[in-house]
Amino acid sequence: MLKSEYPLKWRKDDFEIKIFCSIPNIATGILLKAGNANLVIDPGDGILRDLKDEIGTEKILSISDVFISHGHHDHLGGVWSLLTYLRVMGKKNHLSIFFPKGCVEIKSIYQAFTKVYSKSLPYKIRLKEIENYNVFSSGKVKIKPFPVIHKEFLAAKKIIRKVPAIGFKFIYKNKVICYGGDTAYCEELVKNARGSDLAIIEAGHFNEKSDDMMHMTIDEAVKVGSLAKDFFLVHVPE
Ligand SMILES: [Zn+2]
Repeated sequence: MLKSEYPLKWRKDDFEIKIFCSIPNIATGILLKAGNANLVIDPGDGILRDLKDEIGTEKILSISDVFISHGHHDHLGGVWSLLTYLRVMGKKNHLSIFFPKGCVEIKSIYQAFTKVYSKSLPYKIRLKEIENYNVFSSGKVKIKPFPVIHKEFLAAKKIIRKVPAIGFKFIYKNKVICYGGDTAYCEELVKNARGSDLAIIEAGHFNEKSDDMMHMTIDEAVKVGSLAKDFFLVHVPE
């Protein structure tokens, strides 16, 4: 298996993305910098340590937008600690969390967190459930969400079910980064990766054949990634 060496970094002028890690069943953690803005994508475990090393406390406090591709623990395991850190350090401006419609994990974390800390929360959390795939803005960055296909096992691998999952295209100064999140090979991903300056594509399937629509094989991921000007393969089993 191909092993990615983290962190992975891509930069064009003042548009930069750093993938601290993307290890299946362990953790993801991605930081997007666009000018002075810092956007966090899929904050898995360890995100605070990585953000602290990369941008320091003051800039962590100024983060206003977090993007979640889906509710699996390796993509949002760091949300609770991030919310708590922002509370302890006295964040003032709001924090928006963008996530796919129906993602119960984010809603549950939010409900539990606000139940515990509602009386001592110095900042507002805005839950932004993505219900359509229209373009929206975060400062000077435009974001285009798109649907992907991802699944999970229940009951000792006997039952498989679809999970709410999306990818994001981030557009800044005519440069485009496409992040597919976790996904099987699908037309929406192909469409959005095509022509992007950078595509971040998962190759999380353990087998050479991808028939359960959970992840992509290396071959599928390379095929999609090659449609972009540059690409990273992530989420590769180690
Ligand atoms: Zn997943």
